Amino acid sequence: MENEVLSYDALVIGGGIAGEETALNLAKMDYKVLLVEKELSIGGKMILLSKVFPTLDCAACITTPKVSETARHPNITIFTGSEVKGVEKKGERNFEARILRQPRYVKEDACTGCQECEPVCPVVVKDQYQFNLVGRKAVFVPFSIANPRIAAIDIENCSLCGACERACPADAIDFSQEPEEKTYQFKSVVVATGYKLFDPIKMPRYGYGKYKNIITSMQMERELAPTRPFNTILRPGDGKMPDNLAYVLCTGSRDHTVGNPICSQVCCMYSIKQAQLLMGALPMADVTIYYLHIRSFGKGFNEFYETAKGMGVEFVKGKIGKISEKENGNLVLRYDDIETGQVKEVEHDMVVLSVGILANDEIGQVFKTQKLEFDDYRYVKQIDELKRPAMTNIEGVFVAGAASGPMDIPDSILSAGSASSEAASYLALTE
Ligand code: SF4
Ligand code: SF4
Repeated sequence: MENEVLSYDALVIGGGIAGEETALNLAKMDYKVLLVEKELSIGGKMILLSKVFPTLDCAACITTPKVSETARHPNITIFTGSEVKGVEKKGERNFEARILRQPRYVKEDACTGCQECEPVCPVVVKDQYQFNLVGRKAVFVPFSIANPRIAAIDIENCSLCGACERACPADAIDFSQEPEEKTYQFKSVVVATGYKLFDPIKMPRYGYGKYKNIITSMQMERELAPTRPFNTILRPGDGKMPDNLAYVLCTGSRDHTVGNPICSQVCCMYSIKQAQLLMGALPMADVTIYYLHIRSFGKGFNEFYETAKGMGVEFVKGKIGKISEKENGNLVLRYDDIETGQVKEVEHDMVVLSVGILANDEIGQVFKTQKLEFDDYRYVKQIDELKRPAMTNIEGVFVAGAASGPMDIPDSILSAGSASSEAASYLALTE
């Protein structure tokens, strides 16, 4: 890259809502920021959501202006499809980081995002941005509101047939690109690596991955989102519109048997939100939520829960033991009814597993000279959780958003505010 800048005030690792907020706050204070995101677009998981609780505002309508402000800010440089491989602290306000940029095999400055390459590509694989509900081509624009809206080639699945190269009107396909690893200098680092979703394959008794009409809550988010893969809500097994759906809360949360004993904080509320949206999308459908406790602790949350009940969403205090499938694709849930103490069975035509969130602890391997400390649940340790929640054990390294523990969107933004002000005070000491 010509005239490439190799030194920045801050490295922000992660381009989700917390990383963007941190980068923007620092950039507005005139600090130069490098934002590194492993996915092909910034926006994190929020850009893929339907609506947010408890206001039911459109998630994309909130996040896309922030995404474009981040992308356009002159003090922010963004590397997508990139990974921080190593961070070394050389001294106060002196960090060195190795960053690996994976090639897109598409010239970023030439591609217009027209997608003419997509229909000619013969390779179809699962679309990770639609949580595997539909397919995508080996050459693809990640999703319609991606930023940057540039195609990329999934080289592992590409057959190198050259059809995309012939179809591209901008001459943007470039198979000669190679991974590039370089070292950059920073004065501070903010970890905003977010969280991972629990994979319900780890709970075979629920049958996820085996029974087609069981999906995760993130898959239902995609079915409900404006940029959704189908134009309505469908059960994946046979494409029927469901009329009797069940939610299983705490899938992979508050569960020692899967190694995640803590509450994921958002699953109750996003499930109640989805139930309300389903009542709107499928007015004839019945929605039942199986729960252990409803945690509706935030501002307006309990009212939101009461609204769902008023809309006809049924809440059953019950622990699901096992899910099995009938010949017609319907699902039988065997559960312990906590109110009556009885074991019951009930049939639904679609099941949504409200999966919990887990720490994204891979960031631990990145810090080389001084180890980044983690808490008991593998989240980045806040050394003074009550008074200075953005501080980590390494001076000059701060944490923002769900990298420090489960939290919802407003709390992630607040946390990013704290991380950026801590980083700014640390940076100001040099001046
Ligand atoms: S690679 Fe070419 S055809 Fe594909 S989106 Fe970009 S400009 Fe369009
Ligand atoms: S070269 Fe690869 S990405 Fe391009 S059309 Fe052929 S299979 Fe698809």
